[in-house]
Amino acid sequence: MVSLGTPLSPSATRVMLLGSGELAKEVLIALQRLGVETIAVDRYADAPGHQVAHHSRTIPMSDPDQLRALIEAERPDVVVPEIEAIATGTLVELEAEGVRVVPTARAARLTMDREGIRRLAAEELGLPTSPYRFCDSLDELRAAATKVGFPCVVKPVMSSSGKGQSKLDGPDDVEPAWEYAMAGGRVAGTRVIVEGFVDFDYEITLLTVRWLRDGEPTTSFCAPIGHRQEAGDYVESWQPQPMSPVALDRAKAVAAAVTGDLGGLGVFGVELFVRGDDVWFSEVSPRPHDTGLVTLTTQWQNEFELHARAFLGLPVDTALRNAGASAVVYGGTDAVGITFDGVGEALAAPGVDLRLFGKPASFPRRRMGVALARVDDGDVDAARATARRAATTVRPRA
Ligand code: AMP
Repeated sequence: MVSLGTPLSPSATRVMLLGSGELAKEVLIALQRLGVETIAVDRYADAPGHQVAHHSRTIPMSDPDQLRALIEAERPDVVVPEIEAIATGTLVELEAEGVRVVPTARAARLTMDREGIRRLAAEELGLPTSPYRFCDSLDELRAAATKVGFPCVVKPVMSSSGKGQSKLDGPDDVEPAWEYAMAGGRVAGTRVIVEGFVDFDYEITLLTVRWLRDGEPTTSFCAPIGHRQEAGDYVESWQPQPMSPVALDRAKAVAAAVTGDLGGLGVFGVELFVRGDDVWFSEVSPRPHDTGLVTLTTQWQNEFELHARAFLGLPVDTALRNAGASAVVYGGTDAVGITFDGVGEALAAPGVDLRLFGKPASFPRRRMGVALARVDDGDVDAARATARRAATTVRPRA
């Protein structure tokens, strides 16, 4: 049985989000709707999530001492990591001391770099992945790329959103890829993964929810989300992505295996490559996924509501309401406090909705908002075109 208290009172149910970007902001809104008291944490002030939470805190979450001190001072009922760059070792310690971490501290630790989760998926769970090697020097990378074979992809182990990632077509590309990876990692360090390039027909995020049904953990899936990436970063997504029944069953089996091992309660974004009936595991986020922003306009309960409900121990409904698409609105400019023109024009198109995240500072490739398009006739291609048009109708300026 789940009881929820009154925010800002002694009975409050208190949830702390570690990371207060656009995804955290929507989780916070979902929590606010349930009367949960929220504490939003980020490394910079006035982050999107700070703007909708009861309390905001600004600390470097990768600093173990500051992270521990904050959690011990605030004593939230639940700690919800929303980014990867967190002192996850501290979360593991705090969890052992009784702090609840969503979905689990181990999931946060294993997914904070590419190595933990890749080895778990491929070597322990035996899931299909591209061939891969980890390397710590240019010489090791030269040898590993030859073993893995060309074309291949090199990524810093500590990176996301395509930072430092490149595709290699032959031996001449190894050195530039190494240099680029060294410049693009999230933290100082020289370790990279080199993966065989998968020539997929399409890639999906399978949002997988672990929640309590009659007190027992159970797994439910959202309709598959198709997406397109540019330079390793999501530019548009749509739902549902049509799939063969065999491929969909395989995708669900992979997602169930990896999320079952990670455990806990909440939403997971399982990224998969698909060619014909074949499915390869790529990555998993133990939290809502950026490509899942499309669910703001396609599902009865969007991925952020699903996450909040699941980790609070409440029932969920993963059903699709209608097909739709999302397209990213980029900053386009280096400036603080930018203005968005064309908002009314964008929203005038039938079925269009918009989120502007409220980020204090813009840079050209910074994700500042997302355009959403809903269709009632299932025409995903039309939804994509509408979302893309809406995204370009919004014009950021300094
Ligand atoms: P990641 O940061 O690992 O999610 O990679 C970002 C994007 O790069 C993926 O969504 C794919 O579009 C592409 N990508 C990454 N790894 C591979 C691979 N081994 N084969 C083909 N495409 C890849």
